[in-house]
Amino acid sequence: MEKAVIDLLKSYQLRTTTVRKQVLDLFMQSKHALGKTNIEAQLEEIDRITLYRTLRTFEQKGIIHEAVDGSGKTKYALCSHECSEHAHHDHHAHFYCSLCENTVCMDSITVPEVSLPEGFRINSAQLILSGVCQNCQ
Ligand SMILES: [Zn+2]
Ligand SMILES: [Zn+2]
Ligand SMILES: [Zn+2]
Repeated sequence: MEKAVIDLLKSYQLRTTTVRKQVLDLFMQSKHALGKTNIEAQLEEIDRITLYRTLRTFEQKGIIHEAVDGSGKTKYALCSHECSEHAHHDHHAHFYCSLCENTVCMDSITVPEVSLPEGFRINSAQLILSGVCQNCQ
C-alpha cells in the first residue's frame, strides 16, 4: 500500500511528504468521500493548514475531486485516471446516505446533458442522489 501511494505521488510529480502519504493513503483505502473532519479524526496530529494545502494540491493535480452531496460539507474522493492537472472529468453522480452521512461516487451514473434556454451557459453540473446506502440497509 505504501508503495502504491508513493508511486501515485510520483506520477503526479509531487514530492513525497509524510502528510501527503498519510492523506492519500486514507483516500485510497476509503470506500466513501472524505471531509476535513473525517481526515482530522483519523490523523489526529495533523496540522489543519497543512491538511488544507494538501487537499488543495491534490485537487489541482487531478488526484481528488470535490464530491458535492448537498450536505453543505466539503468532501473529496479519489479521481479516476482520466483526470489531470486542472482538468477534472468527474461527471458522475454522488450518493449521500442520510443515515451514516457518507458520500459515495456513483461512477456508472453520469450527469445528463441538458439543453439550456438561450442566453444561459453552463460551467458545472452536479447530480446528487440521497437515500440509504448498502451498509445501512
Ligand atoms: Zn477528477
Ligand atoms: Zn449509510
Ligand atoms: Zn466522485
